[in-house]
Amino acid sequence: MNCPICDNNDSRIVRSFFPRFYYCLNCEGHFLREDSAPEYAEDYYELESRNLLSKSITRAIRAFFLRARFKKVKSILKNIPNSVVLDYGCGPGNFVKYALKKNLKIFGYESSKSAVRLAKENSLPVYDSVVIAQGKYDLITFWGSLEHADNPKDIVIKCRNYLKEGGKLLIALQNADSFEARLAKEKWFHYDYPFHRIQFTPTALKKILEQNGYEVSSFDFFFPEYTVSGLIQTFLNFLFPKNAFYYVVSNRRLSASSAKTIFINLFSLLSLLVFSPILLLFFLVALVFKKTGAMVVLAKKA
Ligand SMILES: [Zn+2]
Repeated sequence: MNCPICDNNDSRIVRSFFPRFYYCLNCEGHFLREDSAPEYAEDYYELESRNLLSKSITRAIRAFFLRARFKKVKSILKNIPNSVVLDYGCGPGNFVKYALKKNLKIFGYESSKSAVRLAKENSLPVYDSVVIAQGKYDLITFWGSLEHADNPKDIVIKCRNYLKEGGKLLIALQNADSFEARLAKEKWFHYDYPFHRIQFTPTALKKILEQNGYEVSSFDFFFPEYTVSGLIQTFLNFLFPKNAFYYVVSNRRLSASSAKTIFINLFSLLSLLVFSPILLLFFLVALVFKKTGAMVVLAKKA
């Protein structure tokens, strides 16, 4: 089996510092060699917290992040009239819904049946196959989705056909070459085994794009939705059960009793308050060295 990122053969593939992963010396990407990830549980996308405080926190954070995504998309499309966007791996369509409200023409593609069903209930244009808009797409976005694929190369190639001439790809995902990933390894928030199948580094992401008909325009190592929230949860993973705070805030994969939830919430916030100067310093140093926990790459169809 060759490297799923660059097609390199076995001779230059070694064990990664991430448990269970392999590392390709040719493209500097990490990947799993296991059967496909399990489907998310039916209720993965639907859980609503009963706790009023965490429900309102979730909503406020989500709105803030969606606004940041939209701002980024608008800045890319600013000179293109009547632009059409595809959100690839859009889940139940949170971003699609937000962008539609702001009058952007957007479609979503999602492979999870429960997510598509939920999107349909909300009358969103989210489908389990790619709808080719008339004249194809100006921009295809991946908000934390390309790393879930066992075959990222095929997806990048397919997307090239979905794009208009000069169309763009926007890929937001974790950075396996970050200080955080190297320090925390399986405690890293974005490790997320077995759902994250590929751990891209900037070099690996650049390689997969340039080998398949794209020119990379820019890397952004700041994007707080992935960098700051990832760093906070990685830090908390050294003190509490893995990703517990994230599950509380996002209402995901949550099976804790309410007393335990309140405990985790309170002590997480307290620890963040105490350690925030150190975390801020760590983040700033990582940003200077382009080693934050996530990255957003913009590439153009060549
Ligand atoms: Zn490779």
